[in-house]
Amino acid sequence: MADKKQNNRKNRMNNGDEDYNPKFRKMRKKVCLLCTDKDFVLDYKNPDQLKKFINEKGKILPRRATGACAKHQRDITIAVKRCRHIAMLPYAEN
Ligand SMILES: [Zn+2]
Repeated sequence: MADKKQNNRKNRMNNGDEDYNPKFRKMRKKVCLLCTDKDFVLDYKNPDQLKKFINEKGKILPRRATGACAKHQRDITIAVKRCRHIAMLPYAEN
């Protein structure tokens, strides 16, 4: 079993791809939603829009999941927190 695993690994490393790194496999560059769409205006009074940036537990998604740039991720975070404050989004679900 262990031998087989090692063999597979060896084969993968020798398949001609010198820079093969499983960490960066099939990673597509995400572009910031707010940077690409100029008409998209974050509104803390619009929970339907902000629901895209939270998970089913009500937590704010990390940047690697939203794909937003640092500036806009900050804006998203503030908008979600404001929305929670006025009770239009949950702080926590379940
Ligand atoms: Zn952006």
